[in-house]
Amino acid sequence: MNLYRILPFARHLIDLVVQEGDIAVDATAGNGHDTLYLAERTGESGRVYSFDIQPEAIQSTKERLKKAGLETHVTLLQQSHCKAADVIPKSEHLKLKAAIFNLGYLPGGDKTITTSPQTTITAVKNLLSIMPDGGLIILVIYHGHAEGQIERDELLSFTESLDQQEAHVLRYQFTNQTNNPPFIVAIEKRG
Ligand code: SAM
Repeated sequence: MNLYRILPFARHLIDLVVQEGDIAVDATAGNGHDTLYLAERTGESGRVYSFDIQPEAIQSTKERLKKAGLETHVTLLQQSHCKAADVIPKSEHLKLKAAIFNLGYLPGGDKTITTSPQTTITAVKNLLSIMPDGGLIILVIYHGHAEGQIERDELLSFTESLDQQEAHVLRYQFTNQTNNPPFIVAIEKRG
């Protein structure tokens, strides 16, 4: 298939905006795949702020980073991504180029602990307010479970209502696949 699948497309978007020395946020660390990818992109002179509310996710991400020798480039925080904009020092805001939210529940973990539309929307609003123009927020929306469908609807309604003078909003979705495959909403801040 020539078209990017969903997760490769998310990484393609990250590659477009994130360079060595930049700051990036993984809003939902989970098992650490995105944190590791962002740490590789931002490199030794950059930093990744990685959030998850579950200790298992923080531990799993820590181990993945350690294996890759990248743990010193990441600030791992066991707290809600709502706090992201407060945690990142003001001196780093202009370098904050990307944030990714891989929504839903921890693969292999407790399926009752999922992301929620309220915290996701608060975090997106806060991150948008501190990022420079051109900064990108990527939402990977999983809507195969009941909470995911509610979250999908609330996030679509929120992102579609963003003022087009303030943000470009893109939806990337395969529309003829069965079983509610995930899709992407990407928000680019504009000046
Ligand atoms: N990107 C991850 C990976 O590479 O493995 C998968 C993320 S998983 C789909 C979603 C994660 O979001 C779960 O680990 C869950 O604990 C976390 N989460 C739920 N609510 C959160 C919140 N308010 N702040 C930060 N993380 C949250």
